[in-house]
Amino acid sequence: MGENHFDEKDIAKISAIINTMDQLSDTSYIWVTSLQKRETWCSEKTADFFGLPDQIVPDFEHQLMEYIYPYDQPEYLEGIEKRLQGIELDEELCIRIRTKDKSYALFSIHTQVLLDEKGIPEYLIVLIKNENIFQKIDSLTDLYSEARFADDLKEVIAQEEKFAILQVQVKGFSTFNLVYGRDFSNDLLREIALQFIYMMDSDKAVYRLESERFVFILKKSGRQELLDFDKKVRQVLDAGIMVDGKLHPLKMASGAILLENYHGDASSVRGQVTYALNHSISKHQHQLVIFNDEVQTSRGADLALMKVIHQSVRNNCEGFYVVYQPIVDSNTGKIVGAEALVRWSHELYGTVPPGMFIEWLETDPSMYDLGNFVLRTALTETKKLLISKPDFFINVNISIRQLERPEFRQEVVKILSETEFPAKNLCMELTERCKDFPLDVLEQDVRFFQSYGIRVAMDDYGTGSASSNIVMNIPMDEIKIDMSFIRSIIDNPKNQAMVRSILYFADKSNMTTCLEGVENEELQNYLRDYNATWFQGYYYSKPIPFDALKNMLV
Ligand code: C2E
Ligand code: MG
Ligand code: MG
Repeated sequence: MGENHFDEKDIAKISAIINTMDQLSDTSYIWVTSLQKRETWCSEKTADFFGLPDQIVPDFEHQLMEYIYPYDQPEYLEGIEKRLQGIELDEELCIRIRTKDKSYALFSIHTQVLLDEKGIPEYLIVLIKNENIFQKIDSLTDLYSEARFADDLKEVIAQEEKFAILQVQVKGFSTFNLVYGRDFSNDLLREIALQFIYMMDSDKAVYRLESERFVFILKKSGRQELLDFDKKVRQVLDAGIMVDGKLHPLKMASGAILLENYHGDASSVRGQVTYALNHSISKHQHQLVIFNDEVQTSRGADLALMKVIHQSVRNNCEGFYVVYQPIVDSNTGKIVGAEALVRWSHELYGTVPPGMFIEWLETDPSMYDLGNFVLRTALTETKKLLISKPDFFINVNISIRQLERPEFRQEVVKILSETEFPAKNLCMELTERCKDFPLDVLEQDVRFFQSYGIRVAMDDYGTGSASSNIVMNIPMDEIKIDMSFIRSIIDNPKNQAMVRSILYFADKSNMTTCLEGVENEELQNYLRDYNATWFQGYYYSKPIPFDALKNMLV
């Protein structure tokens, strides 16, 4: 074996250590790094967990970065770097790591430095422990816990039958705590749990969530069965719960969701039921709120439509396509580039604009696949324009659901190379929605893409305060000023001042600028005096299919 590999002696020593430690628990993973050789030996379980082809990996601690949640990467790196220098540290690292099912779980990292005979740090022993393994039984009520609910919910979803979820909150507990004390409240909760257990049959299950919240899975339940069950729960509480020989009549609020053939993930269902329950409390005097109705009436988004759209993304982005809106030179009005905008069409719903679904999809991991589909499609199509127009650029909107995934960077590099699209002709548009992302992680992403020659723009600039924070701290290449400032600018001195100051700032920071929403000739002529770099708007063209764009360019 060569210089950089473990020798026989190393391997015997390490595997003895690992074998002992590996038996400690089945939610922990172990590896040992030779600090001199910077090579890591992973236990079989660890190699399997990360999907490694080999148990011996060079520079493993750094390779692990791509599994770590972007927010946690700086903390991880700082902590692990010190340990790799052989520094023994007491505090443990707590970070989120991507698991096999692509979700993140919280892990604690425990390390120990082993010294050689001369007292020099020789091995770093690392044990990571999954902290997301919760108790499946609630110790107070003996009901199944939230963790078990999460598991069971996944299971009913997989069965693809109809079912309902009902979440309830029993009222009055803050008063009971105050007047009668904690012990009384706990007795009351135990009694309520018992009453709920009596209501169960083979199609029903009950779980205790936090405090006075309970949730039911009602298999095979449609609307009427749900309404009946909700009524029954209310009657049981209303009749009174017996504690210390006395009946205490209780009220509750409730929220529910009805599902049939649902293909989305369990966490959105949980979010939606909680949303319905919170609405029951805040807006509907504690009456039952069914998410399906609430969403249709109050948010304008149709749950059935969302389900079909979600399914289409899963189905290789079926029904999605890309249209292009030209971007022109502000002085000449000549087309210099275009923005790629996604559309979805379906025989039942017709062509649906992104305003109807992007915001909703942004809360869902499937936006990652849709965003990459748009990028790939846009580059594949517009590549053909570069033969006659080598400077033509394409702007593509990038979602936070893409940026947050560590593998996104390499995906972009791969798409560029597969489509043979020159990086310098691509501009990525980021929006305010990135504001929840830590600034330093965002900066690393922007710099990474820029190092390939990709340009990065701040989209919808001016609509929120976070975008200023982003452009002040991260070296962006372009600012796109939101059309809400542009459309009424002629009669609005405040908008004029605002746009002028943004353009001044961009000019001083060497950024190009694009004014969106240039809808007519009058606006165009008025805005020319502002010296922005590009214009975009209905005056030049609405978003159009690729072939129409191609025709506009000849
Ligand atoms: P955006 O990126 O700011 O795109 C510009 C939007 O303004 C487009 O709406 C465009 O049709 C509209 N627009 C352009 N010029 C005018 C004009 O002169 N007057 C008026 N009234 N509207 C104009 P669209 O296509 O409906 O897209 C809405 C938003 O959806 C986009 O805003 C973007 O934030 C998002 N979006 C669209 N496609 C994608 C995508 O592939 N990925 C992501 N992450 N977001 C996308
Ligand atoms: Mg945009
Ligand atoms: Mg925009």
